[in-house]
Amino acid sequence: MAQRRHRAGAAQRARPTRGLRAGEDVRPMTETVAGPHPLAPEWLRPLTDSAALEDKLFPADAHRDDQGRLVLGGVDVETLAAQHGTPLYVISEDDFRSRARAFVEAFSEAFAPETDVDVFYAGKAFLSTHAARWAAEEGLCVDTASGGELAVALAAEVEPARIGLHGNNKSDAEIVRALKAGIGRIIADSLDELARIDQLARSAGVTAPVMLRLTPGVHASTHEYIATAHEDQKFGLSLTPSSDADTDQENPYAGSPAWSAVEHALAAEHIELRGLHCHIGSQIFEPEGFEVAAAKLIGLLGRVRARHGVELPELDLGGGHGIAYTEADSPRHPRQIAQALAGAVRTACDAEGIEVPRISIEPGRAIVGPAGVTLYRVGVQKDVQVDGPSGETLSRRYVAVDGGMSDNARGVLYDADYSAVLAGRKVTGNHVLSRIVGKHCESGDIVVRDVYLPTTTARDDLLAVPATGAYCHSLSSNYNLLARPAVVAVKDGASRVLIRRETEEQMLRRDTGFAAQD
Ligand SMILES: *Cc1c(COP(=O)(O)O)cnc(C)c1O
Repeated sequence: MAQRRHRAGAAQRARPTRGLRAGEDVRPMTETVAGPHPLAPEWLRPLTDSAALEDKLFPADAHRDDQGRLVLGGVDVETLAAQHGTPLYVISEDDFRSRARAFVEAFSEAFAPETDVDVFYAGKAFLSTHAARWAAEEGLCVDTASGGELAVALAAEVEPARIGLHGNNKSDAEIVRALKAGIGRIIADSLDELARIDQLARSAGVTAPVMLRLTPGVHASTHEYIATAHEDQKFGLSLTPSSDADTDQENPYAGSPAWSAVEHALAAEHIELRGLHCHIGSQIFEPEGFEVAAAKLIGLLGRVRARHGVELPELDLGGGHGIAYTEADSPRHPRQIAQALAGAVRTACDAEGIEVPRISIEPGRAIVGPAGVTLYRVGVQKDVQVDGPSGETLSRRYVAVDGGMSDNARGVLYDADYSAVLAGRKVTGNHVLSRIVGKHCESGDIVVRDVYLPTTTARDDLLAVPATGAYCHSLSSNYNLLARPAVVAVKDGASRVLIRRETEEQMLRRDTGFAAQD
């Protein structure tokens, strides 16, 4: 069916372009598209009103002013670009804060009155001292996954008791630093690490608050979850008994790495086992995967009580809450996830006859992702001939911008889709299927794979790529020795720099051949 639709579309496309308005810039070989382009993915809607912003992709305070310019946090993008240069990461502080608050409110309400919920902002999505403070001021804790992230959270003066430390291969130095700072919890990832934490805590003369990261055999991504017995991944401790373990009628987890870890942690003198943790994936839209994982971990909590008479006080259900990167994505409000999850947790706890533990979650992208927009300037444009689905010759417009995979690696890493709009002026004219690419020496350097842009898009126009607040700056690199862009926050009509743009001099300073000259 899909194939046939494509062909019908292609036949229409063979007609000359039509419906152009007077004065419109029509380039040779450019197709001005009225219906879907045969090279476009099915979800991509041909734009009817390109001035409109898709609400779910942009910060809540985004709009276009009467000159058609995109305005973020009360500042128009041409002003932002003039003040701070491009590429530029822009984060709406109000949007970040309101998404953070929405998680706290939704989960606290859903789990009341039985228990409290701690929302940990997953700092790896985007971390700066300001962002950590925003999270803390909105009542969130902060998760870190390395010494560097921990250093930023501590520098932001986040209360140490409200910081967590993750990682599958923490160094001794990282563990000691966490212990000495008095952070709230270390999430242990292996038996080996548990033993090291115990030893290091003994040397430091402290007791380490520990959660165990378990792999419940539930992988979730976007619309579905997959349940597997064995998880072939580096993180966590499996709930599946090892093949040579004796079966135990009363405890299906006996002989699993998770069970051994619980017993080791309970016996360890310098560990205070706070509870169990899991993180089942990313970009998850539906609650089912979280529900299944929660039920499994609560099953284990029940066995721990039956065997050891201990009710572990905490349960962390991880992050991974999905966001809209393109119009095809329809994430749920945190309230819907929270209510479904609270129902599943209550049912499972009733079945085990245990109290509902204190719950924590760890959203990252769902807080900062939609709050962020990346601004680029258009440079070279090229129309490239491409073979269509039925052998016809089609044209795709390549629009090159002044950044690329160094400021947004998600396309290269995950084949991630994004969307974009012409941002600096009124949108006029028809649209052409375009691919926004960077300036790096890689053909895979694609920022937005498929988007309809106005045919009038020209050099120096500003493009805005929404939903880039998470995992763009934090994954940025210096590839091709491009300086990493600045991150600015916008709020109430003003912008301020959160992270300065890198300079060539800073890059050269790392080079001893250069440093030797001064
Ligand atoms: C990455 C990560 C998160 C955050 O994931 P998001 O998709 O940004 O919500 C939370 N917890 C752990 C353990 C992670 O590794």
